[in-house]
Amino acid sequence: MKKHNFYAGPSILSQYTIKNTADAILNFADTGLSVLEVSHRSKEFQAVMDEAQALVKELLEVPEGYSVLFLGGGASMQFCMVPYNLLNRKAAYLETGTWAANAIKEARLFGEVDVVASSRDANFTYIPKGYVIPSDADYFHFTTNNTIYGTEMRYDPESPVRLVADMSSDIFSRPVDVSKYDVIYAGAQKNLAPAGVTIVIVRDDALGHVDRAIPTMLDYRTHVKKGSMFNTPPVLPIFSALQTLRYYKELGGVKVLEKMDLDKAARLYDAIDSSRMFEGTVTDPADRSIMNVCFVMTAEYKALEKEFIDFAGERGIVGIKGHRSVGGFRASLYNALPMESVEVLIQAMKDFEAKH
Ligand SMILES: *Cc1c(COP(=O)(O)O)cnc(C)c1O
Repeated sequence: MKKHNFYAGPSILSQYTIKNTADAILNFADTGLSVLEVSHRSKEFQAVMDEAQALVKELLEVPEGYSVLFLGGGASMQFCMVPYNLLNRKAAYLETGTWAANAIKEARLFGEVDVVASSRDANFTYIPKGYVIPSDADYFHFTTNNTIYGTEMRYDPESPVRLVADMSSDIFSRPVDVSKYDVIYAGAQKNLAPAGVTIVIVRDDALGHVDRAIPTMLDYRTHVKKGSMFNTPPVLPIFSALQTLRYYKELGGVKVLEKMDLDKAARLYDAIDSSRMFEGTVTDPADRSIMNVCFVMTAEYKALEKEFIDFAGERGIVGIKGHRSVGGFRASLYNALPMESVEVLIQAMKDFEAKH
């Protein structure tokens, strides 16, 4: 049976990415060797790294003066690398979910943290507005898409200080004005590649302004200087990331991806809003994520949630169980998910509703 993959991460990848990765595991770039067993310093792998960096720059229109890094350690490693490299005295953070809170916890190890606003009071179901970013902060950090709670900031906020964003779960789903940012980072396993690599886009002249000593591996300058080859990079996820980047370019770039993503999300939110059995957990449409759609059953039907997951499973729908801190359902609609899968989910919701 055809599967419809709504997992939040690791998550669906294009067939192009999976097929080319499988091929390269058997024979990489006509070397007669697997990509798993080739030196990262071989000319064949260097070409992969170079093209992957160039395509990130091309797709996101990264201006001069920025470096694109492919690092290990996950997005969670960036929660400490950012303050290690940028926080001298004080940083400002927006608390919009668990990942933002984890980033805040790490930053506190390095200096004062001003949490400018939080939506914790309503279990992170909205994006706080009207907060003030202090002009004496070293930077302002926010999470563009809150994977667990289904809220998203689909814009580049104005900031009087350096801007840092965790774009793990919505990078490549819209054009970004990179020139507004000093650091953008994204774990690859949501919208790009298998787990194991994190993309970091860093403004070169944002580095070197903190007083502390930084361990070599955690110093962005190490990886800028060595082109992400200071140590052995995660070669397989980088190879897969390159396939996805080629695929994104082939499709027409981030504007085209954005349109597809907006269409998919609009279809699903419409179905949820017009149903008597389901309701969205994020009520303000402006705050709703187009990547992770969170919804629950209304009070009257609450007891049927488990049954719906089984019902949907019989139609090949996987990964729609909501995160334990929200409950209900979460349908992740990353770039590689086709509209067809959204239609299958909507039909399952309708048929289940008719049945009860
Ligand atoms: C998944 C996720 C993370 C954590 O990524 P790891 O690679 O597991 O460390 C951080 N931030 C956001 C927004 C995420 O979705």
